[in-house]
Amino acid sequence: MPPPADALQIYLGHRDAAWGVVGVARGDGAYDDGGQLAFEAGGTANSALPHTVTHAALTELAHILSARRAAPITLRATTQLAAAAVGVDTTDGSLELYPLIRRLRDSLSPQARCSISESAPHSHFPWADRALTIATICKPGRHWGTVSAAQGALPAAVAPTPDSCAVCLEDFEDMLPSGSLASRAVTGLYACSHATCRRCDHALQRMHPARCPMCRAPRTVWIPPRP
Ligand SMILES: [Zn+2]
Ligand SMILES: [Zn+2]
Repeated sequence: MPPPADALQIYLGHRDAAWGVVGVARGDGAYDDGGQLAFEAGGTANSALPHTVTHAALTELAHILSARRAAPITLRATTQLAAAAVGVDTTDGSLELYPLIRRLRDSLSPQARCSISESAPHSHFPWADRALTIATICKPGRHWGTVSAAQGALPAAVAPTPDSCAVCLEDFEDMLPSGSLASRAVTGLYACSHATCRRCDHALQRMHPARCPMCRAPRTVWIPPRP
């Protein structure tokens, strides 16, 4: 059964001490290419420990959701962050995350649900790729999108360049990965920081040897085909 029309899929990504949060409306968490970006934010935590990063991201998420009307949400994060969010990660017991999750739940209407589910970047979820890319450009000590005053005191992150695909020469429809195949592919597929559009990337990753079309850096990550 598809999620209700006002449901939000929220993707949580991190790179070292930086985090990215992406809210998608009208997605279903699996085939949500037709989902629409509802909000996005990124910032920096005090350390790269999963608990600390998740705590910083969830604090900011609660701030974002407090300004929106209640909707059922599914929080989608990497295994490490999802584990931290439900309290089974013990790398840093000094921060209790469950009260934050409860606060998120309390901010929703009684009928609304807040569930937590895994969704890793580099595995055909473009919105998870976007959350990772936001975290990457927020490293170190930068912020992205609409954030609270504390995070907003950091300098703003800068979108990746160049703004067109080196293979098809089309301008990227979006400088960060989105549901559109004309958006910029996720960062980190090659040993360099270049990326093509998502459409060209689908073809490029089947080529041998797989190298960056701009600088010939070797490919380091392959995105498995969608099941
Ligand atoms: Zn292209
Ligand atoms: Zn390159």
